[in-house]
Amino acid sequence: MVGKMSRIEDKDYQRELRRKIKQLKQEKQAVILAHNYERPEVQEIADFLGDSLELSRAVTEIDAKIVVFCGVHFMAETASILNPEKTILLPVKEAGCPMADMINVKKLRDLKSRYPGAPVVCYVNSSAQVKAESDICCTSSNAVEVVRSLSEKEIIFVPDRNLADYIQTQLPHKKIFAGEGYCPTHMRISDEEIIQAKKEHPEALLMAHPECPPRLLALTDYIGSTSGMLEFVRKSPAHEFIVGTEKGMIFRLRRENPNKKFFSPSEHFVCADMKLTTLGWIAHSLENMVHEVKVNDRIRKKARKSLDRMMSVKKVNK
Ligand code: SF4
Repeated sequence: MVGKMSRIEDKDYQRELRRKIKQLKQEKQAVILAHNYERPEVQEIADFLGDSLELSRAVTEIDAKIVVFCGVHFMAETASILNPEKTILLPVKEAGCPMADMINVKKLRDLKSRYPGAPVVCYVNSSAQVKAESDICCTSSNAVEVVRSLSEKEIIFVPDRNLADYIQTQLPHKKIFAGEGYCPTHMRISDEEIIQAKKEHPEALLMAHPECPPRLLALTDYIGSTSGMLEFVRKSPAHEFIVGTEKGMIFRLRRENPNKKFFSPSEHFVCADMKLTTLGWIAHSLENMVHEVKVNDRIRKKARKSLDRMMSVKKVNK
């Protein structure tokens, strides 16, 4: 018996969706942004690809009034905070980030009362309300620079405890009080899987995202954000790499480095939320102008301050 083909596997249907999206984009003068963890077909149709920081910057620089943000909720929200005059659409309303949900204003205020005087650095993987309650934001690309830029010795860092640990190793003269959050995708990787991948690919360099557990980071040749990994691969004379982050990244790495080889250490390196966005949802989003992400003005202005402060640190350190 022949199995029923899913619509994602149906090439004619996918071709028709691509045509429809291009037409809608033209009609509405919209642009599509996609995170490096998105599905291959979503990455292919995007006008801009990047990590959180690159996409936040791209939104401020593009001319279009309508932006379809293929990523998770906090990313679209960040884009809206920076660009309130633009319409930011998140194709799948349910695409969230479990790590971002691990911190809220109440938990953050509790930390602040426990460590009075310590400024709050919040990872961009957080809600607008948490950003508004923080002193400065950071992404995985600039987290070390952001914490280094602060004159205070003691710092509160939320929500990612693994990223906080990594910053602590880079800045031992600071004292970081970390939140309890973590990325379930990056925590899913086991030591055995990494050891096995290294055995199978003895020539390959191991790259990992700082959201991975510290014991895994200790085994790496390179630690950085997805944009950092792209740069590392571009400059490296090596030909093989084990990619310690969400599997979507491998699609982009292969596309931009066709002569190099990339391996995922685990079948489980998949962020379910990032995979919710499909071509069908992008077409639906553009056609019906859903789901718009907006932040109320009072929160937006405060959150914007934390983001602007982050952007200025990046410029200073460039
Ligand atoms: S990969 Fe992790 S941090 Fe990124 S969106 Fe998914 S759950 Fe959140």
